[in-house]
Amino acid sequence: MTQPTVLLKIAVPGPFRKLFDYLPLETNEKQALLPGIRVLVPFGPRKVIGILIEITNNNQAASFKLRTVTQYLDAAPLFDEKTFSWLRRVSQYYHHPLGETLLTAIPTLLRKEKKPHAAQQVFWQALSNDPQQENTLQRAPKQRAVYQFIQQQNSAVSQKVLLENFLKPQSILKTLQAKNLIKPSYHAKDLPAANLPTASPGQTLTDAQQAVTEAMLSHIHEFKVMLLNGVTGSGKTEVYITVAKKVVASGKQVLILLPEIALTPQLVARFRCRFTCMIDVLHSGLNDTERFTVWDNIKNNRTQILIGTRSAIFSPFESLGLIVIDEEHDLSFKQQDGLRYSTRDIAILRAKPNGFPVILGSATPSLESIANIEKPHYLQLHLTQRAGKAMPPKIKTLDIRGRKLIEGLANDLITQMTATLERDEQVLLFLNQRGYAPALICHQCGVVEKCPRCDRNMTIHQARNRITCHHCGYEKKLPNECIHCKHSDLRPIGYGTERIEKCLQTLFPDTDIIRIDRDTTARKNAILRLLEKVKNDTGQILLGTQMLAKGHDFPNVTLVGILNADQGLFGADMRSGERLAQLITQVAGRAGRGNKPGYVLIQTHNPEHALWHTLIHESYNTYAQQALEERRQAGLPPYSFAGLFRAESTDITDAIQFLNAVKKSMQTYEALGVEIYGPVSAPMERRAGKFRIQLLLISQQRDKIHQCIAAGLNEIENLKLAKKVRWNLDVDPLDMS
Ligand code: ADP
Ligand code: ZN
Repeated sequence: MTQPTVLLKIAVPGPFRKLFDYLPLETNEKQALLPGIRVLVPFGPRKVIGILIEITNNNQAASFKLRTVTQYLDAAPLFDEKTFSWLRRVSQYYHHPLGETLLTAIPTLLRKEKKPHAAQQVFWQALSNDPQQENTLQRAPKQRAVYQFIQQQNSAVSQKVLLENFLKPQSILKTLQAKNLIKPSYHAKDLPAANLPTASPGQTLTDAQQAVTEAMLSHIHEFKVMLLNGVTGSGKTEVYITVAKKVVASGKQVLILLPEIALTPQLVARFRCRFTCMIDVLHSGLNDTERFTVWDNIKNNRTQILIGTRSAIFSPFESLGLIVIDEEHDLSFKQQDGLRYSTRDIAILRAKPNGFPVILGSATPSLESIANIEKPHYLQLHLTQRAGKAMPPKIKTLDIRGRKLIEGLANDLITQMTATLERDEQVLLFLNQRGYAPALICHQCGVVEKCPRCDRNMTIHQARNRITCHHCGYEKKLPNECIHCKHSDLRPIGYGTERIEKCLQTLFPDTDIIRIDRDTTARKNAILRLLEKVKNDTGQILLGTQMLAKGHDFPNVTLVGILNADQGLFGADMRSGERLAQLITQVAGRAGRGNKPGYVLIQTHNPEHALWHTLIHESYNTYAQQALEERRQAGLPPYSFAGLFRAESTDITDAIQFLNAVKKSMQTYEALGVEIYGPVSAPMERRAGKFRIQLLLISQQRDKIHQCIAAGLNEIENLKLAKKVRWNLDVDPLDMS
């Protein structure tokens, strides 16, 4: 047998920080072997799907020891060259195994051996409404009939309908397409009637919107990160639409990222009535086939605009010309397990070598983005006023010290609510706690029921007659006696949305109350149905957690009440102030978005707190500048770089020993400017029965921290304890709980 001349370097799924060598298939077929195709390979006793990374010369003497690829699964690479090299950089930056990174980037169906099928439906629409057009078809009656049929619908017609109405229309459709009379579009699902593409002109931009748009358009063909810092309701979306139009017109694709699946329908509807091009949507609500279909549409350039949540960043665009990240400050843009990426950072990494701009939009930009403005390639643009007739909301604190509260609600708030509802306007109450109450206490002995597996109290869910742990999911029947003294006088302490809802039902028996939290929206599409119930012209009370705070446009909400704001004032995390300032500003921004004025009442026991003062009398931006100055002085991110090793184990000493060994391997970097803190317990020391220990690295120099992390990871390869503890690495961690 002749020695194969090439060797395949293949990334396989799993925690491997190296590629594996395989011999190519001995096949008669002239299969073009290209990096980026999927291959089926034997791995241990199993067969796994890997991705071909490199084809090198075989100069190994002992190649008889190597195994051979079982099958090539793709004829062409899954990624174009630029996307491929971007994903490699992502893998390097997060020190995450290449195989795992690439597999994160492809749809689930491609992680299976079976060949997936896209399930899109084809729709056809006429390119002109002009009835004269059909005259060109006078000598082709069959074509004319089909064309007339399509033109007479004021919407795109599905191929299914055409098949029902005409005998074998396929070739006719092709001809009409070639004559530029009709065009196809492809959709993963049936198009709901409201989504039909007939572009409408939209509003005339205000002068401020116009100025921002023009500034953006002057950078449309180059790499630029543009932070659109615009107050809530300032018309940022209109700006995105106008810029996206130019990009689409130049033949490029556009990606719009949103923090939350619930925000997609609103935005998609807005985009669909402004564009005639193909718009697809990608979020966790889709099934595997739908996701693959969208992936396939993007890859084949059938879709010009993709609107999606976090993972849509991995879509295989081959001619991407713009990424918009709306509500860029939102924590959900950071993936919190597996490949722990920041969507914003990897979007910028993708845009740079491709030479296109990224727009980051927010009314409350992250401190990271504000600090970045000083760098080259960054540009900040402001929209300081609301668009249209809307005025900024008036914010007031409501001092509840010593006041009588009805189930947590102050009298003044209730009075304002009544007045608002009498005007047929809407009230939004915000409470960042779901369930009935966050704790159950024994009135006899004072013992609070804790989760047996976590360092946290159990939350009461009265409607389900259970208590549950919001951290590990453990739950049981609502007890009728104290676990400690067996007494039966158990009482809820504190308030959750379920409890407030009950109270509102007695206070406002004739008012529609719409509660939006993770419990009322657990079922697929439930949130969409709830949002549909929000009317534009009647008094309703919307009650919810932070799900309600994000980006929604409820034009009839004129009063916002914030119930448990104090909770965030004294958080242990260095980011808790930033989070609270963002949350309050965002919730407040839901008030008065139509043409009626909005009021915001913040119930607080700390009315003198500096944070309220800054937010009410100054602005979020002032708060951000102050907070950044504190970070600068303390040498904390974004003025330094951080990495976090976490270890979890049922045996606390294993986790500590493991991280101590990792620390030891990195100690030489302490002299080179990396500070290593720990190992210490995470703020929540025990979760789901495991102890959680962490090791924090901070450095002023990015390259040093990466070298230090690499040294730690090398050591982990040799550590026996690595098999006993569960560990992970978070580069640029945001959540250190
Ligand atoms: P943001 O994305 O900044 O929160 P939106 O783009 O959703 O703001 O706009 C807020 C409201 O103002 C929407 O109801 C929108 O229709 C309206 N609006 C935006 N731009 C204009 C404009 N140029 N003229 C009139 N109304 C506008
Ligand atoms: Zn628990």
